[in-house]
Amino acid sequence: MNYKSTRDSSVCVKSSEAIVKGLSHEGGLFLPESIPTVDAAFVASLAPMSYQERAKKILSLFLTDFTPEEIEYCVTGAYGDNFSSKKIAPVAKLDDKKHILELWHGPTCAFKDMALQILPYLLTTSMKKVGIDKEVVILVATSGDTGKAALEGFKDVEGTKIIVFYPVDGVSRIQKLQMATQDGENVYVASVKGNFDDAQSGVKMIFTNPDCEAKLDENKKAFSSANSINWGRLVPQVVYYFSAYADMLEKGDVTMGEEINVCVPTGNFGNILAAYYAKCMGLPVKKLICASNMNNVLTDFIKTGVYDKNRSFHTTISPSMDILISSNLERLLYLISGDANKVAGYMESLKNEGKYTVEDAIKAVVTENFAGGFCSDDEAKATIGEHKAKFGYTMDTHTAVAVKVYDDYVAATGDLTKTVIASTASPFKFNEAVLTALGEDVSGKDEFELLDALNKASGMEIPQSLNELRVKDVRFTDVYEKTEMIDAVYKFLNI
Ligand SMILES: *Cc1c(COP(=O)(O)O)cnc(C)c1O
Repeated sequence: MNYKSTRDSSVCVKSSEAIVKGLSHEGGLFLPESIPTVDAAFVASLAPMSYQERAKKILSLFLTDFTPEEIEYCVTGAYGDNFSSKKIAPVAKLDDKKHILELWHGPTCAFKDMALQILPYLLTTSMKKVGIDKEVVILVATSGDTGKAALEGFKDVEGTKIIVFYPVDGVSRIQKLQMATQDGENVYVASVKGNFDDAQSGVKMIFTNPDCEAKLDENKKAFSSANSINWGRLVPQVVYYFSAYADMLEKGDVTMGEEINVCVPTGNFGNILAAYYAKCMGLPVKKLICASNMNNVLTDFIKTGVYDKNRSFHTTISPSMDILISSNLERLLYLISGDANKVAGYMESLKNEGKYTVEDAIKAVVTENFAGGFCSDDEAKATIGEHKAKFGYTMDTHTAVAVKVYDDYVAATGDLTKTVIASTASPFKFNEAVLTALGEDVSGKDEFELLDALNKASGMEIPQSLNELRVKDVRFTDVYEKTEMIDAVYKFLNI
């Protein structure tokens, strides 16, 4: 199977090349030229399998230039006892209709781990396959979560090094500790004086500096990024929708062929697009419910066919969804239209005017498959409190957005189809907002006291990776001016 670009119909590469390149030369995103389909027997066969076995089955349908041994190596390296649940992505049943797919049992307690734990293996395997015999140097500027998830993914992965810069005053105390105590022989973390934009523009300057590139090349090294639009981050996400259905089949919560709905708290549109892929492959999915916070550009798009980012930006208690440009939507537009010129036109218009309007035929497919909704911080908090009271289940703020939007959807449509709601973060990651929602007093408590308070209020165990921050040694304390970042890179790489 070959891969195409969303913006140039002449592009044709193998999956390994798509993963190594990340982005097509003209700025388009890679996707497979056709979507592999599966039948009911295939889906049923997943039921008795482990997550790892399910992952091998699904990934090999897309990564057709990988050998079974290569897929095995990637999956085994990614999904093991680094996850706190043997099931990797377990499904919690609240009632007959509401099933919560917990995607946060990885090392950083958020769903980014589902893809970032396997990306390093996919990337290094792909480099070998395309014949690039270089060490990959991952360079990341982070406002918090992605940097930590990338560090955990790439730590001690052979053939890679990872360097993360975070703004000295731009991350929470716990995020800073998570990064400063990072273990692994191939990792380096430093802070940059300034805000996130300073760190990010510093990284961009290093990426595009030709002298720097030449120097790395002489030393058999090459930069890469762990960017969220890489196909290697999207394809692992298709797996857990099949896995959730397989788990429900195994428990007798659905019968084979029974349609489910899927509801996803959405930011960049990656997670929900993976669910759409699963549907197109043949997983019995009826509606995909796209949940947003007050940054509701996607709700409006699904309703009207107009994508318009010219609006005010809201800072919310679900910060990972505070996004006005959902990059992966571009892949959906291509999947529906099959027309690279059309998609390139929409993206040009987004760049120049901040908006585009899709044609009626595209809009019709969008509304047939997707429903959209949004909610406020207060509504999300109320949802956390209500579900704790009713089901004894504590959820984080992002998950709460999805659950509220799902409840609204059911009230508006009367659609009682069993639904899988993606839960994207551990409540401990957003403990202050969650505790407030549960009616607890948070005043004067530091991060660790908040962890203890949530442990008490929820009855849930504190995730080990957050708990051990209390005693872990700080390894990284370097602070740089933006202009010194490049020297820091050379120093760490010893070149
Ligand atoms: C990244 C993230 C999201 C948004 O996922 P997309 O794939 O960007 O739509 C939602 N919740 C959490 C906790 C996240 O980290």
